[in-house]
Amino acid sequence: MKKTELTYDICVIGAGPGGLPAAIAAAREGARVLLVEKNGYLGGNLTIGLPLLGYLDKDGNQVVRGIAQELIDALAEKNAASRHYWCPMHDSVTIYDHEVFKIVAFEKCREAGVDLLLHTEVIDVNVDNGRLESVTLFGKSHRIEVKARVFIDATGDGDVGYMAGCHYQKGQKGTGTLQPPTLMCTVAGVNTEETIRYLEAHPEQMELAPTVEIYPGYDAGYFRSNPDHHVLVGLRRLFLDLKEKGILPVDRDTMIYIQSLLPGQVHLNCTRHLGIDGSDVLDLTRAEIEGHLQNYALIDVLRKYVPGFENCYLTQIYPFVGIRESRRFDGLRRLTEDDLLGGVIDGETVGLGSYIIDIHDGGGNGTIVKKVRPYGLPYGMACSADIDNLMFSGRCACMDAVALSSARVMPPLMALAEGVGVGAALAVRQGRTPGQVDVGEIRAILRKNGVQLEPQPDAKTLY
Ligand SMILES: Cc1cc2nc3c(=O)[nH]c(=O)nc-3n(C[C@H](O)[C@H](O)[C@H](O)COP(=O)(O)OP(=O)(O)OC[C@H]3O[C@@H](n4cnc5c(N)ncnc54)[C@H](O)[C@@H]3O)c2cc1C
Repeated sequence: MKKTELTYDICVIGAGPGGLPAAIAAAREGARVLLVEKNGYLGGNLTIGLPLLGYLDKDGNQVVRGIAQELIDALAEKNAASRHYWCPMHDSVTIYDHEVFKIVAFEKCREAGVDLLLHTEVIDVNVDNGRLESVTLFGKSHRIEVKARVFIDATGDGDVGYMAGCHYQKGQKGTGTLQPPTLMCTVAGVNTEETIRYLEAHPEQMELAPTVEIYPGYDAGYFRSNPDHHVLVGLRRLFLDLKEKGILPVDRDTMIYIQSLLPGQVHLNCTRHLGIDGSDVLDLTRAEIEGHLQNYALIDVLRKYVPGFENCYLTQIYPFVGIRESRRFDGLRRLTEDDLLGGVIDGETVGLGSYIIDIHDGGGNGTIVKKVRPYGLPYGMACSADIDNLMFSGRCACMDAVALSSARVMPPLMALAEGVGVGAALAVRQGRTPGQVDVGEIRAILRKNGVQLEPQPDAKTLY
């Protein structure tokens, strides 16, 4: 095997919402950046048919801008993104073409001067005296050692932090259960007009569980006003009835579909795999097998029982099962449920979140949804408490399980990632650790770059 050595200012591992904007932001600040990704494309969960939730707050005001907005603008230029639509349930919904997203991601990295290593996975770390000296990667024919001044772990599960022995938490308070994963798939040949008509005639099908707090108006009328760009969570009575009769192949009480930008095509967010830890390859294997089988069986059920889906057919099962929750690493500051409920925004804020508390119960008891107001994402949540030159960006950053259930959606994670990238670049420039950087300086750069650090009431018409 070839042995290769590389040296960078910053090495970002993982190119999802936690990694991609961090790499771009750091490179724009003049750092030499390597972005490592195990897939052959960039984006992580940005490429599995999900909508973007969280650009707007519960009142319809925009709270996430910066690189996260730039990506949407670049997609819109290619006719591959919708506007941000206010939604009584999810606060906001932005639909985009995830295949075009892959292209935009490459363009943005090239423009910023980010070096890429694809099809490459971390296999080891070299920690010395509280510092991460290097990571070892494996890619075809190569064993690569990367030395860097700052490492950003954006692997979702925090693989680098795990290998480095950093402290972490997992699971909901009390139960320790993890939110269950889902294998996304896409079907075509759907007549959503027919589905909306059915919901008009059967409004009871839009009644959700009592644990779900939404604004009034999440009904057929809302979908009718927005037929091309909606996310439907509903058909609960139908799903419960099918479950009781033993017909439903998934452990769900509602159907979730995402209207794609392409006519007749919807993405299904329906499988559910209980007792799976996405940071364990044995569990992942079980979830992938279950997910493929469940999706195929589910499509047959949809054809028979869901109006509008009579002629639907499978067009894609995504390349990996989506993990909602696994390790959350100790940082210099923890984002907590109280921060969300109190709407805490302070001088450490490098981005805003505002998405609902959205916990898919790992015990199979449905979903808990609660509205929150905008809150700050503090820089310290990304600085490792254990290793001076390691940062965590994405869902592995320092949060409690409830805070994660809100901040895990992709727009706020991209906002945090931009702050992480700027912080890492300043650390390199100033010869400091990321945790020693003055957050005021990071915020000044972010503000100059159009990042939103405070809520702007009545910003409804800005996009
Ligand atoms: C089923 C499901 C539905 C969701 N619904 C929504 C939604 O509707 N809207 C929304 O905004 N958010 C949604 N989310 C949340 C959101 O997708 C995730 O929380 C978010 O993508 C996490 O970002 P991340 O960058 O931390 O991880 P990821 O998106 O998982 O990205 C991690 C990246 O790191 C790479 N990687 C992993 N390990 C390694 C390694 N060892 N070496 C090299 N590379 C590695 C991966 O290939 C991947 O590209 C959903 C999540 C799931 C699972």
